[in-house]
Amino acid sequence: MTTNAAPFWKTKTLAEMDNSEWESLCDGCGQCCLHKLEDSDTGAVAVTDVACAFLDIEKCRCIDYANRAVNVPDCVALSVANVGSLHWMPETCAYRVLSEGKDLADWHPLITGDPDSVHRAGISVRGRAVSELSVSDLEDHVTGWLNANRATLEWRQKEARRQSASGADKPKSNRKPARNKPAQKRKHR
Ligand code: SF4
Ligand code: SF4
Repeated sequence: MTTNAAPFWKTKTLAEMDNSEWESLCDGCGQCCLHKLEDSDTGAVAVTDVACAFLDIEKCRCIDYANRAVNVPDCVALSVANVGSLHWMPETCAYRVLSEGKDLADWHPLITGDPDSVHRAGISVRGRAVSELSVSDLEDHVTGWLNANRATLEWRQKEARRQSASGADKPKSNRKPARNKPAQKRKHR
């Protein structure tokens, strides 16, 4: 007899998850390890394509995760207590998504069972970021490509085409990068 038990992220709150479940929510996108510029007056946040020196840009993983707080003192540790207030976290981040009462996206590795689905969906920073070690001015690196809605739609369209050979038009971006005063924020769970 088969059972169809709901997955843990549907039955538990973030606070109820154990460490293994909590860590598995990370889709490995690497977006939170990019520098952001925050306007101190408006709070508007622009994302750059400049990654922390400790991010492996190909794998989209921290190369020294255990010591991240020592290596990078402003690397914010994501927790149940602060996840709801980190407005600069990407809209696609599973921690943010669940804290807002939404469901995981269909490209999330926990849904697909494939760690590479986050890369195929165009959500991760793979191939799109540069190391901070090679950058002098963050203002020159503000990007407009982190658009959750567009990425999710494109992922669904690609998957649909792959499965049924149907051809839908690509949606247009509805977001523009803001101009901001330099301020850096970065974090990790
Ligand atoms: S943004 Fe969220 S899902 Fe993406 S790497 Fe960071 S913690 Fe993981
Ligand atoms: S921002 Fe933090 S978690 Fe991300 S690569 Fe840097 S030290 Fe590692």
